[in-house]
Amino acid sequence: MFEKVLIANRGEIALRIHRACREMGIRTVAVHSTADNDAMHVRLADEAVCIGPPAAKDSYLNKAAILSAATITGADAIHPGYGFLSENADFAQMVEEHGFAFIGPTPEHIRMMGDKITAKQAAATAGLPVVPGSEGAVDSEEHALQSAEKIGYPVLIKATAGGGGKGMKVARSATELREAFNMARNEAKASFGNADVYMEKYLGQPRHIEMQILADNYGAVVHLGERDCSLQRRHQKVLEEAPSPALNADQRAQIGEIACAAIAKLGYRNAGTIEFLFENGEFYFIEMNTRLQVEHPITEAITGIDLVREQIRIAAGAPLGYTQADVRFQGHAIECRVNAEDPQTFVPSPGRITGYHAPGGQGVRVDSGLYAGYRIPPHYDSMIAKLIVYGNSRNEALMRLKRCLGEYVIDGVKTTLPLHYRLIQDADFVNGDYDIHWLEKFVAQHS
Ligand code: ADP
Repeated sequence: MFEKVLIANRGEIALRIHRACREMGIRTVAVHSTADNDAMHVRLADEAVCIGPPAAKDSYLNKAAILSAATITGADAIHPGYGFLSENADFAQMVEEHGFAFIGPTPEHIRMMGDKITAKQAAATAGLPVVPGSEGAVDSEEHALQSAEKIGYPVLIKATAGGGGKGMKVARSATELREAFNMARNEAKASFGNADVYMEKYLGQPRHIEMQILADNYGAVVHLGERDCSLQRRHQKVLEEAPSPALNADQRAQIGEIACAAIAKLGYRNAGTIEFLFENGEFYFIEMNTRLQVEHPITEAITGIDLVREQIRIAAGAPLGYTQADVRFQGHAIECRVNAEDPQTFVPSPGRITGYHAPGGQGVRVDSGLYAGYRIPPHYDSMIAKLIVYGNSRNEALMRLKRCLGEYVIDGVKTTLPLHYRLIQDADFVNGDYDIHWLEKFVAQHS
């Protein structure tokens, strides 16, 4: 087992990884920018190395600085968390070439899944159902129009190198497609440095259902069930729950089996998430995330399996040690992403936390580095906390969540807590009756 792990991330996920390491008797190294000198994970880690100024490109994305920190501190392995370098195949390769273990999949798998076109091709080859779409990239307006005729309107233009819900455009007619096509390419070039786009059938009322997978280096694969992440604003997840209120036992078993078979066929190892859209009883692969996800705690809550611990064990060469039949699903879990943003306009609200009280009690978990007096830096993502509740039933989890949202105090900055409080009392949400477009309408009604 590793003796020392360097955590190449910040915020709640850096703290989350530190906690798993501590419980495994592994020492931790925090790397941080000058904006994060006072961050909780920096305070708690065994060692901390400042790797640069606030801008992420100079610190959390600075591969050379992170590798130097690992060398100086004598770390055995690097955990990339999510975001930043977590899905950067070159970084994973450099980590291994420098003699450290990368806590994640192989660089080849990251590369394959990082490009959405090769990902879709790999998924289809591995037996996963995919959204009907263009064959590969569409490189001209003419080509786009031809593809759209075949696919049928409406179509969605997506960036091959896209991520974070950015750079997608819907076209409902040839006129709209003509307008959107070049814009989408320019945006893709500006955001991702790669202008390639492809097209998919735009689904009208799907749910976003994703399967959590774990695979070791010796061919053992299990799934840890699904998460329903349909509640999104601008294609970004806001609240997630597990299990999905929309799946029945047969559908769950079916997609679990298909996902595990695909993972085995791809020879994938470590944790991963296969994302699907689900409409009219059919699943359609959209992408695979080759890393730990923000919403992983709801899976931990219903399975009792610590995903970060499993990632570390697998990266250290340990066998999974259990089979699908050993994975037990119990109860219901919900996660609210709490952002430092105005709950109506979503304008970021960084600043100093003047008062802080986190909810607790049975079935409650708060993953956050916040404390009273902490100053949220303006340079990074606005997510500042995750509130996760667990109940024996969905109803119990909902009642608990309402109780927790009533207790949670974050003074000094605006947060999205009031949005969650309204959201979870809406009749559609309470009935589990929502698709990926529902939250946008809810937000529009309440602003
Ligand atoms: P990203 O990598 O940017 O997150 P994804 O491919 O995972 O992009 O898609 C993000 C979200 O966009 C999905 O969860 C869904 O809400 C929406 N989306 C993606 N593909 C489609 C589609 N074909 N039809 C309708 N909505 C889609």
